[in-house]
Amino acid sequence: MKNLFEEKEAQEFVARYPAIPGELALRTYSSRLIGKERGLVLHGGGNSSVKIRMKNILGELRDVLFVKGSGVNLGTIEPGGFVGLELDPLCKLQSLRSLSEEEMENQLQVHKVSFASPNPSVEALLHAFLPARYVDHTHADSILVLTNQKQGEDFLREALGPEVSVLPYLTPGFLLAKAVLERYEQNPGIEAIVVVHHGIFTFGEDVRVSYERMIHYVGKAEEFIAEKMREKAFRPLRRDLASPPDFALSIARFSQMVRGTCAFRAEGGSLRRFYVETRSAADLVEASLLPDARDFCSSGVLTPDHVTRTKNLWVFMEGIPEDDPGLQRRVREAVGGYTAKYNRYFSAQVAGKKIAREKLDPYPRVFLVAGVGIVTLGVTRKAAQIAADIAEHTLRAKLMAGALGEYVPISDSHIFDMEYWSLQQKKLDRTPPPLLQGQVAIVTGAAGAIGCGIADRLLAAGAVVVISDIDQPGLQKVYSILSKRHGESRVESIVFDVTDFKSVEDAFIEISRRLGGLDLVVPNAGTAHVAKIEDLDPLKFEQVIAVNLKGTFNVIKASIPVFRRQGTGGNIVVISTKNVFDPGAAFGAYSASKAGVHQISKIAALELAELGVRVNLINPDAVFGDEEIPSKLWELIGPERMKSRGLDPQGLREYYRQRNLLKVQVTAEHVGNAVVFFASEGTPTTGATLPVDGGVPAAFPR
Ligand SMILES: [Zn+2]
Repeated sequence: MKNLFEEKEAQEFVARYPAIPGELALRTYSSRLIGKERGLVLHGGGNSSVKIRMKNILGELRDVLFVKGSGVNLGTIEPGGFVGLELDPLCKLQSLRSLSEEEMENQLQVHKVSFASPNPSVEALLHAFLPARYVDHTHADSILVLTNQKQGEDFLREALGPEVSVLPYLTPGFLLAKAVLERYEQNPGIEAIVVVHHGIFTFGEDVRVSYERMIHYVGKAEEFIAEKMREKAFRPLRRDLASPPDFALSIARFSQMVRGTCAFRAEGGSLRRFYVETRSAADLVEASLLPDARDFCSSGVLTPDHVTRTKNLWVFMEGIPEDDPGLQRRVREAVGGYTAKYNRYFSAQVAGKKIAREKLDPYPRVFLVAGVGIVTLGVTRKAAQIAADIAEHTLRAKLMAGALGEYVPISDSHIFDMEYWSLQQKKLDRTPPPLLQGQVAIVTGAAGAIGCGIADRLLAAGAVVVISDIDQPGLQKVYSILSKRHGESRVESIVFDVTDFKSVEDAFIEISRRLGGLDLVVPNAGTAHVAKIEDLDPLKFEQVIAVNLKGTFNVIKASIPVFRRQGTGGNIVVISTKNVFDPGAAFGAYSASKAGVHQISKIAALELAELGVRVNLINPDAVFGDEEIPSKLWELIGPERMKSRGLDPQGLREYYRQRNLLKVQVTAEHVGNAVVFFASEGTPTTGATLPVDGGVPAAFPR
C-alpha cells in the first residue's frame, strides 16, 4: 500500500478552493487519495470527516463536522460532497442509552448547517463522537481478511501492534458510535480502531497523520498476509472439473439461461430482467476449480456493507453442460435452491426479530462457475459491474483468508440488519424503472442516421444498446456521441458483416458474453442501388439482396437460439421502407429486397410467437439525418434524385416534406420512437407494419 500524500499537491487543493476552510480542502485531497486505492475502497464505500471551528451567520463560533455524504464516491469527492453538521448537539446525544434509526436520521437532518448538502453517511455519528479532528474509515480487503478469522484478534494484534484497538461487530449506527468512543476514551493513545467484520477507522489532529495511519496499518495487514501466504504450499485443483472447450459459447449459453431463469414479474406485472457480467481472470478461474470452491459461495460477504450489492450468498456451478436441456435443468435447480433458501432466511429473520419488512427479490447476484470464473447479475449494467468488482475482491480475499486459517462468516442476523435496515427499506425506490431498463438491444447499420437515431431513443428509454455496423470508423463516431450522451456502461459496439451468417452468430455470442443476452433485435442495416432493370448490373442486384434481405434473415435467425434459451420473449423490429407498398422506377433492387424482408419478417412473426417473440416492421420514408450523422442511403441515392428533379439538397428535403400528408420532415428520432413503442410491449401486436412517413397515401399498409 503506497503512501500517496504529497505536501505540494495538498497545498494546491487549498489554493484551488479559496472560498472554503483550508481543513476542508485538505480533507477533500486526502479523501481522494483513499478513494483511488481499490484495496481500500470500492464503489462508494468508506468515508472520512473533519471538524472545523467556524462562524455561523451571526458571527458566533461553533464546531462543524464535515462528513462524507451518503453514496458519494471518495475517489472523486468535491468539498460539496461533505455534509456540514452542528457538532455540539450531536455530541450531546452520547448521554442517551439508545437511539432509534429513525431518530438518528432525524437528528442528523435537523443539525445540517446547509439545507442543500447531501444526506450524511450512516456512520456520521461515529465521526462526530470520536474527538480527533480528522477521521478516515475504510473496509480495506486486508483488514477484513484478518478480522473474518477464528483467530482474528490474535492476527490483528500480531499484525498491527498495540496502538490498534479491536472491537467486536456491531451494526453501524448509534451503538457502534458509542462503543467506538468508549474504546477511544479508555485508550487515548491508540491510532486506529478495527471493527470485526466491518473495517478500520484511523484518526489524528493532522490530515496527513490520519491518512498515513490508514496506509500504514492496511499496509501492515497486507504484509502480514503476504508473509503467511508464502508459507502456504501449492493447492491442487479438482481434476474432475475444467474450463469448457468452447469458452465463449459456454459463457454465452450460461448467461442467457441464468438471465432468463432469474427474470421475474415485478408488482404491476412488468418483466424485470438482469444484465450479466463475467470475470474470467486466470486466478478467478483457478479459484473456481479448487476443492473448496463451494465454500467460497456459502461463507457470505466480507463486510455487511456489500450485501445490498451482491446478496450474502453466491451460487456454485459445477461447470456448464454442453447440451441445452442439461444446462437448463442445472441452472433451474441452482436458482430454485437459492431462492428457497433466501425465502427461508427472510422468514426466519423477520419472525425472530418480530418485525415487518418488505421482502426484496430472492434471486442471486453472484455465481462462481467452475472453469469459467465469476458471473454476476444486476438490474442495471452498472449494478452488475459493481457486483462483479466486489465479488472479485471477495474471492481473492477468501483465498487469502483460507490460507491463513479458518474463515468465520458473519451471522445471518447481522446480515439481515444491514440488508433490511429500516432506513434502507424506506429508500426502496417506488418510482417505476425506465421503460426499457433491463433490456439489451442490438441495432445493425448503426453508423448511419436511422440506426444512430434508434439507438439514441432506446438508450433514452433505459435499454443497454449494442450498436453494430461493418463501417468501423463510422461506428466509432456514433459510439462516442452516444456514450457521451448516455454513459459508457450503457453502450457497446461491435463490428460484423450481416451478409455472413457465421459473423452474425459469433457477434451474438460475444454480445451475450458481455451483457447476458438479447431482448430487442433491430435489423436496420441496408443499402441501395439506383438503376432501371435494363441497366441493373446483376452483381449489384445480388449485393443489395445480400445486405438487405439475407442480412435481415441472418440476424433474425441468429437471434432465435438466444430467445429460446432465455425464455422471456422479446422483440424483433425490422426497419423496412414505404417503397414496399409504393415502389418507384429505377429502384428495383432495393424495393425487391425490402419486399422479401417483409415476407421473411411476417413468417418470423408466425414462427416465433410460440417463444413470445413479436416481430414487427417500420416503414420510414425520406429520413436524411443531419450533418454529423447523415443517412448513408441518401448519400447513395440523393445525387440522382436531385439531378432528376433539378433540386439542391435543401430543395430535396423540402420536396419530400411537401409530399406527405402532415407536411413534416421525418427524422431518425421518429423511427426510434416507433421502435421504443414496439419494445415496450404496450400492445399485443405482432406481424404489423407501422409507417413513419408523415402520411403517404400510396404507401398505406395493406
Ligand atoms: Zn463502514
